[in-house]
Amino acid sequence: MDFSLTEAERDLVSLCRDFAQKEIAPRAPLAWEDARCPTDLLREMGALGLLGMLIPEEWGGIGMSTVGFVAAMEQLGLADQSVAAAWQAHVTIGSLPLYLFGNDAQRERWLRPLAEGSALGAFGLTEPDAGSDARGIRTRAERRDGGWLINGQKAFISNAGTDMSFGVTLLARTDSADGDASEFATLVVEKDTPGFTMGQKMRGIGWRGLDTRELFFDDVWVDDDHLIGDPAMGLSQFLSTLEVGRISIAALSLSLTQAVLDLALEYARERRQFGQPISKFQAIQFKLADIATELEAARWLTYRAAYLRDIGEPFLKEASMAKLKASRVATWAASEAVQIHGGLGYMLETPVARFYCDSKVLEIGEGTNEIQHVVIARQLGC
Ligand SMILES: Cc1cc2nc3c(=O)[nH]c(=O)nc-3n(C[C@H](O)[C@H](O)[C@H](O)COP(=O)(O)OP(=O)(O)OC[C@H]3O[C@@H](n4cnc5c(N)ncnc54)[C@H](O)[C@@H]3O)c2cc1C
Repeated sequence: MDFSLTEAERDLVSLCRDFAQKEIAPRAPLAWEDARCPTDLLREMGALGLLGMLIPEEWGGIGMSTVGFVAAMEQLGLADQSVAAAWQAHVTIGSLPLYLFGNDAQRERWLRPLAEGSALGAFGLTEPDAGSDARGIRTRAERRDGGWLINGQKAFISNAGTDMSFGVTLLARTDSADGDASEFATLVVEKDTPGFTMGQKMRGIGWRGLDTRELFFDDVWVDDDHLIGDPAMGLSQFLSTLEVGRISIAALSLSLTQAVLDLALEYARERRQFGQPISKFQAIQFKLADIATELEAARWLTYRAAYLRDIGEPFLKEASMAKLKASRVATWAASEAVQIHGGLGYMLETPVARFYCDSKVLEIGEGTNEIQHVVIARQLGC
């Protein structure tokens, strides 16, 4: 396996490094304070082609490889996790169902604006009573003449409520011909559709810039052309999209771990106690060495999952392993990095404290780590 980057991937990394350092990093503390999705930054990223990262040029994207996407994330997430979280949710789960399962007319109508960067995509799976158990969703789409009547509620949906959002691609139960409500369909509901409303932006302990809300559907009517793909295949469409989402969360975790390692190393070299820099204490050196080693292990799992997707091989188990390992490493490394900063690390004025707050959700989003264990164990034949 050769993970060395192609010229196009290297150019992308350098573009992302530049944008992250010049544009994202200086505005990150403000985005944290405002707790608002920085759509100004996302629009600028759209103008650079970054919002259509995994979508072919034919549909307005830049057709980047998954390996290139991971490498780009390593740069963007170093600067700010909220921006990177909103970006990755758009690039993967927000856009891919439309590309992978939509027809050409639907791609033209909904995917192209997402890929060209004028709109933001959202993925509506989770509900108040159904998170890990996706099959347990209650939102229902009833087939009537010429379309679908949708009733239900979604919870924790990212990117649906910003001034750039186009609406949501959601999963709903449907009635099959024999009346057995065990089938699921993927449907698009555009913002401003009558009966589609939202709650307030929720306040997380991290990812403060990410716009996450409850969505409500009260007799929402959509025409037949809003159905994405096979009406019986919605659940498998959503679950397969999540496989890519897991590589993405793993990549976000790598960027967080690298960020806290850099911060801890810099601080350890500067901070003096007992007449010397704390980096001279072996206890501190071992923490840093452990973080660097674990990061490298997580990095290999993540690039391998991305590489398998790029060469068209199955990557379900590898994506779950990457997400499990990388998110664990990130939450642990963030805690160690705060420890190295002592009291200062506890204060939200310092970037390391913000990364610490951002880390926990990596073990929850796009399938909790317990669910990653379930997926891996099943793949092992349990
Ligand atoms: C910031 C944020 C953004 C999000 N964005 C989106 C989004 O854009 N779209 C979307 O659809 N969802 C989104 N989510 C939802 C996220 O995917 C869910 O929170 C996650 O899948 C877990 O579901 P839950 O919260 O209902 O927890 P539950 O499923 O209720 O789980 C509670 C606990 O039980 C454990 N558990 C459950 N089942 C099992 C099992 N079989 N074995 C062992 N342990 C188990 C879980 O691991 C967890 O520890 C977001 C969540 C957050 C926090």
